Amino acid sequence: MNKPLRIMLLMAKTGGGHGAVADAIAQALKQLYGNAVEPQVVDALRDFAPFPFVLIETTYPLQVKLGGDGYGVAWRALNDAVRAKRLMKSTWPFVRSAVLDIVAQPVDAIVAVHPLFVYPCLWAMKRTGRRLPFITMVSDLIVVHALWCDPETDSMLVPTGTSQSYALQHGVPAQKIRVTGLPIRPQFAEPIEPRPAARARLGLQPDKRSVLLMGGGDGLGSLGEIVRAVGHAGLDVQMLVVAGRNEKLRRQLADTEWPIPARIYGFTQEIPALMNAADVLISKAGPTTVAEALARELPTILSGFIPTQEEENVTYMVDAGAGVLAEQPRRIVEVLRSWLSDDGQILTRMSTAARAAARPRAAFDAAEAIYTTSRDTPVIVQPPRREPLLAALERFLGADGVVDYLREGVHNRRRR
Ligand code: UDP
Repeated sequence: MNKPLRIMLLMAKTGGGHGAVADAIAQALKQLYGNAVEPQVVDALRDFAPFPFVLIETTYPLQVKLGGDGYGVAWRALNDAVRAKRLMKSTWPFVRSAVLDIVAQPVDAIVAVHPLFVYPCLWAMKRTGRRLPFITMVSDLIVVHALWCDPETDSMLVPTGTSQSYALQHGVPAQKIRVTGLPIRPQFAEPIEPRPAARARLGLQPDKRSVLLMGGGDGLGSLGEIVRAVGHAGLDVQMLVVAGRNEKLRRQLADTEWPIPARIYGFTQEIPALMNAADVLISKAGPTTVAEALARELPTILSGFIPTQEEENVTYMVDAGAGVLAEQPRRIVEVLRSWLSDDGQILTRMSTAARAAARPRAAFDAAEAIYTTSRDTPVIVQPPRREPLLAALERFLGADGVVDYLREGVHNRRRR
């Protein structure tokens, strides 16, 4: 029997999205190719990063919370091919040995599901001389930061047409880019269970309207305040609250007496079932949550977004007719009240719109593309060699073309 194709998916738990996308692809690879494939999801920051980079993961909620628009400003400032490359280059001396360890793993192909790993892994493979097939899977829905866009990748999978244009703008060759949708867990491709049955299975009241409240994997974005506003609004609903990894919030909410039925979850694997049970989702505009809500045809009130990074997810949902933006808890309650009090016409219309924009099989499309590239791209082995000084200089400056420029200068001087 042929050996299984070992595919390493590199993710990091900055939020829940990258991990969810990696898990979705791993599950879809197994469903499609069974024993012919061996996907491994690796939390590369946790398992490999040296101090202080290892802290990026644990401090992510704090960065987003305290950063405010500062996070967006930094994100925008670095969203340029040259500057992104320079940033990565400046960290290279500190992360080099960790990244060399990553690319030395006994695998047949690498998939980056987090932007921080793209440039370093491709550089590290140049160093070792063992160039494995490398695939970049963008796990944001619309925007594509320049950090993702090393044109040396073998294949770049992006969720939407707009992300395709961003990748092109950052210099990724058109023939390497493919639009697959944003991979979400294979359960989202299964038929949607009727709400009363889904509620009964979760032990909820089968016929009571249900509102699902989320804040990404880390329970971010004023979730507590919003839950309190909805819980005390006098609505005839039951609340399903997912606090994710925000344990403090989970405890606070679980210790509260609510005037309506309320279920409070920490980090749960039950999101597909909870989305089946809900009539409305209230969530920040996290890319994976948004893609999952579309697949479950779930009208969504977007309660906020991470500046810049998630802003266009809001526009996407609003333009699709599947969501509205309402940031203030009072406004969220108003929207919810209006949606629940018109015989369900608004909700039905929005559900239909969500279905039209959904890509529930994205994980399978991405898995197919990843498998094919991993299988068909040859591993190139060369003796490890030191970089020529000028190429090292060029990479250090983060500016392609320096070498050509210098060469041309020499050439012109010779002609003169
Ligand atoms: N999620 C989950 N269980 C939880 C909370 C969140 O599985 O308890 C998943 C959620 O379904 C989605 C992901 O975590 O797949 C959140 O990703 P998103 O991109 O929306 O936001 P992020 O957490 O990355 O900011």
